[in-house]
Amino acid sequence: MKLTFLGTGTSCGVPTIGCQCYTCTSPDSHDKRLRCSALIETEQTRLLIDCGPDFRQQIMSQPFRKIDGILITHAHYDHMGGMDDIRPYCQFGEINVYADPIARKNMLEMLPYCFAENRYPGVPAIQLHEIHKHESFCIGDLDIIPLEVMHHDLPILGYRITPHTSQPSSHSSLVYITDMKTINEEEIQYVQACDTLIVNALRQQPHHSHQTLAEAVSFAQRIGARKTWLIHSSHHIGRHAEVNASLPSNIQMAYDGQVVSL
Ligand SMILES: [Zn+2]
Ligand SMILES: [Zn+2]
Ligand SMILES: [Zn+2]
Repeated sequence: MKLTFLGTGTSCGVPTIGCQCYTCTSPDSHDKRLRCSALIETEQTRLLIDCGPDFRQQIMSQPFRKIDGILITHAHYDHMGGMDDIRPYCQFGEINVYADPIARKNMLEMLPYCFAENRYPGVPAIQLHEIHKHESFCIGDLDIIPLEVMHHDLPILGYRITPHTSQPSSHSSLVYITDMKTINEEEIQYVQACDTLIVNALRQQPHHSHQTLAEAVSFAQRIGARKTWLIHSSHHIGRHAEVNASLPSNIQMAYDGQVVSL
């Protein structure tokens, strides 16, 4: 199983429009962060997690082949705003999109023309699946268990993804969590004992709906994955190289385009 970080930035991306701060003016390409999304691939299966407004730009650098499913974490624009741009992938068939009831409702409102009786030719062909926390499902050769985290007072989904060849409880799992502020104790069992944890770290200063860097590190240490990658960062966090030098070697900021193998 291979994961490609298509985007690792917060909702406005980095650099931030109009900003001349130390991070936004960095010459390092690791400090250019598109909106959060990831591609997960095995020999057989290709999944996209979230489809934000940078999707078109992000997917252009990837081979053009079928996407077997899109896992939506929540209904915010930075995670769903690129859905209309999946159109070219509909030549491989309907796109299966997985969302919780809140995100599903939002998608119906955002893209009513995709779900109308008489659809305009060429609109995205979406098969929308309603999913619920802790109810596992399969896409190709991947087992997926949605888990719930809190984005301030909004319950949203994280995902535990395991290849069929392994047990869901096994250490070959990947857990992807974005936009978390807190997590209920009962959810921890769905995160624990994973090989790779991906979790959000916005910045050093507190925020009402996102984890700070310190909160993310403390969560990562509690889970104890072999490797934790931090995502959904804002320009306030500082430069990639400097932040990573200050972090433990098994908990590091990810960057756009980075590929990790499990
Ligand atoms: Zn977000
Ligand atoms: Zn800035
Ligand atoms: Zn959000």
